[in-house]
Amino acid sequence: MSLLVQKYGGSSVANIDRIRNVARRVKKFKDAGHDLIVVLSAMSGTTDTLINLARSLSKTPLEREFDALVATGEQVSISLLSIALHEMGIKAKSYNGNQAKILTDHVHTKARIINIDPSTIQQDLDDGYVVVVAGFQGVTDDGAVTTLGRGGSDTTAVALAATFGAEECQIYTDVDGVYTTDPRIEPKAKRLTKLSFEEMLELASLGSKVLQIRSVELAAKYNVPIRVLSSLQEEGEGTLITTEEEIGMESAIISGIAINKNEAQITVLGVPDRPGIAFDLLGEISSANIEVDMIVQNISQDETTDFTFTVGAVDYDKAMTITEATAKRIGARKVLGNEEIVKISLVGLGMRSHAGVASKMFRALADEKINIHMISTSEIKISVVIDTKYTELATRTLHDVFGLDQLEH
Ligand code: ADP
Ligand code: ASP
Ligand code: MG
Repeated sequence: MSLLVQKYGGSSVANIDRIRNVARRVKKFKDAGHDLIVVLSAMSGTTDTLINLARSLSKTPLEREFDALVATGEQVSISLLSIALHEMGIKAKSYNGNQAKILTDHVHTKARIINIDPSTIQQDLDDGYVVVVAGFQGVTDDGAVTTLGRGGSDTTAVALAATFGAEECQIYTDVDGVYTTDPRIEPKAKRLTKLSFEEMLELASLGSKVLQIRSVELAAKYNVPIRVLSSLQEEGEGTLITTEEEIGMESAIISGIAINKNEAQITVLGVPDRPGIAFDLLGEISSANIEVDMIVQNISQDETTDFTFTVGAVDYDKAMTITEATAKRIGARKVLGNEEIVKISLVGLGMRSHAGVASKMFRALADEKINIHMISTSEIKISVVIDTKYTELATRTLHDVFGLDQLEH
């Protein structure tokens, strides 16, 4: 039988009963003859608690120690699952990132996996063990613990699936698949049966946190099919994320709506309109390692222009301080900040061949009197920035207008 990599998220291992439930499910696959690598997150809430502990001592905790601390959450869950499996008569061994030889770069809190040495884990699989690996963590070449960014266990799972040539990387979570939009915001959201890597990548980058972006990037690069499933339901095919060719001709115009509340908007008014102005404003921001997402510069009238961009909400204060200083230096009139914004995005492969999606979207929002602050488009997505208070209204309106609750996906 084939090798499966299964990842269980925080809510799936939230307490002892849930851990027993995971053990029972793993046993079922093992009894059916599969080899298994199981990747776990920390019990839900644990990572946040650990982060808060570090922050209560320091606003800027030493990154090396911060990673060493937050990585402990996963070490608790992997040991507990291994104990539970043993109680059910299944041989299991837990591995932290270092033991699993998950080598990463040195970028603490958002490290990238460079390589996984498969030798030890392969030996255990050959010896009939279920291998239980701590998600979200790795080790540098000089032995420091690193973490892979929030939601990073998804990436651990895909990296292991690629390394060991798993048939499928199964991501078990608290929803039974990827939905047309976040079911917590639109209860009428429908589960998608299939989705291309490209669409999932857009949805993840635009704010659907069901999968970490990097896990989808890796899956696309190494062609690892991902299946998102519920850890609480016995049956169900979940959502398969795979290549466009596998999806075939059935791609929908719009597959999903992503919602991102984690951005903030900065506007600089009355910027002298001369070459180099965008660099002046954004150069300092990027030197401070702050990622800028959307950018809009208006056509200038009286030799001055207005310039608006968005940054991650966590970077907002820092970005405002930098921008205010730059604005003064270049003689801009005023800086305005707005944290109460949300980015709503439509994603779908079919947009490539269908015109009119944008105008339909704008009309639907206008009919609801929702003002659009910014717009950005690419081949398979359209994003708008609007006031946070319209999140639900805009999402439900667009879900309805594009018939997402009716399509057979
Ligand atoms: P885990 O702890 O298992 O990693 P996450 O909380 O990271 O789980 O991801 C699952 C959550 O993602 C769901 O509970 C849901 O609220 C959210 N989510 C956002 N967008 C979507 C979507 N399009 N489809 C399904 N879930 C989504
Ligand atoms: N425990 C980590 C987090 O909460 C990693 C993960 O769950 O994927 O972000
Ligand atoms: Mg997650």
